[in-house]
Amino acid sequence: YDRINSGIDSNYGAGKPFVSSNGELAKIMIKKVLHEQIARIDTDTCDPDEENAFYVADLGEVYRQHIRWKSNLPRVKPFYAVKCNPDTEVLRLLSKLGTGFDCASKAEIDMVLGLGVDPSRIIYAQPCKTKSYLRHAAQAGVARMTFDNADELYKIKNSFPDAEIVLRILTDDSASLCRLSTKFGADLETAADLLRLAKQLNLNVTGVSFHVGSGAADPSAFAKAVKDARWVFDQADALDYKLSLLDVGGGFTDDTFEIFASRLNEALEEYFPPHIQVIAEPGRYYTANAFTLATNIIARRDVSSGPGTPTSTASTTSNASTPSTTTEKSYMLYLNDVPQVLYSSQARDLNKLIEYSIWGPTCDGIDVISESCYLPGTLDIGDWLYFENMGAYTKCSATRFNGFTDKHETMYVSSEAGASALLGY
Ligand code: PLP
Repeated sequence: YDRINSGIDSNYGAGKPFVSSNGELAKIMIKKVLHEQIARIDTDTCDPDEENAFYVADLGEVYRQHIRWKSNLPRVKPFYAVKCNPDTEVLRLLSKLGTGFDCASKAEIDMVLGLGVDPSRIIYAQPCKTKSYLRHAAQAGVARMTFDNADELYKIKNSFPDAEIVLRILTDDSASLCRLSTKFGADLETAADLLRLAKQLNLNVTGVSFHVGSGAADPSAFAKAVKDARWVFDQADALDYKLSLLDVGGGFTDDTFEIFASRLNEALEEYFPPHIQVIAEPGRYYTANAFTLATNIIARRDVSSGPGTPTSTASTTSNASTPSTTTEKSYMLYLNDVPQVLYSSQARDLNKLIEYSIWGPTCDGIDVISESCYLPGTLDIGDWLYFENMGAYTKCSATRFNGFTDKHETMYVSSEAGASALLGY
């Protein structure tokens, strides 16, 4: 940990690209914390819930993503989508890094305001708001908010007539992991009608927003959406609205960030002059890779059917979908949480690959994580499995079904000195 506090990221500075090899260091730090924590838990003697799944979060990863954002999208101010992972340390770090926040509810607004963030750094990016939350936003001074339908305009007129409203338009999000346009966004024709209605109601339309879908896969979706937003700006202009804000939403992922950023930059340059403020609402991009989840194997069922399973090379840290050593064993494992990608810590007989199906803890038959995967060695009740990249839409979506907890402890490390300094670690 000493290395962490000794200014590893000192090679970053104004005008210099951020170069950090701390991703590898982060892995070492995370493993150390994981192993220390599981060594403290004896599943033969512990109290109920002491063996619950837990997270290790590397805030250095969030910090690196922010620096990467700034160097690739200098014109676009990120408003972190709190819904993606409302972890308090993540929010605290981002507030110190100066990002804004996309909040979708009263609770999210309060969480961010509770950190001392000025209300002007919040966009209430929920086009269909609860009326009482809208009144709460008015009281708290959170003026910037999205809308996409006529009823919402009447609601805003009644509860917060001075709000700075941002018209959310539809996008083609058919290539994204999680489509949002099936539920939110006005098509262009409706958008023009909404602008006219807003004018009649004397409401303060200040900008246009869109979202290309979470986990977007098609970079041209940004180019098309920016072009459509320009069209809406021009319609607004004809109604004497002087729009000043473009919100390009979320949808950025770690793997495709540079490609998406470059397409977005091109489109912004083509359609929006520099005096238009551009913001975004990234969630997944910031936190997906920062969290590792540790889960305990709470039960095992031997379902061996005899020899003859496939062959390939064993590895101690892989999801090992291509097996190497012939094995006759196969088990059903029951975990106390339900993630996706894994590597194990305590496997015995590492030269053997064993077939497992992996199940969650609830009584529901659809609670399956993997119907078949090959892992090196024999895993037993009480062993732990680790899942990387579990920071987006995970802890906030946990279920209390069957009385299992939706609160998981998180342990924090920081693989960047810049983040440690800001957080006071
Ligand atoms: N903004 C809005 C309005 C959203 O609904 C979402 C995700 O559902 C986000 C931002 C964050 O999207 P992502 O995590 O894909 O960046």
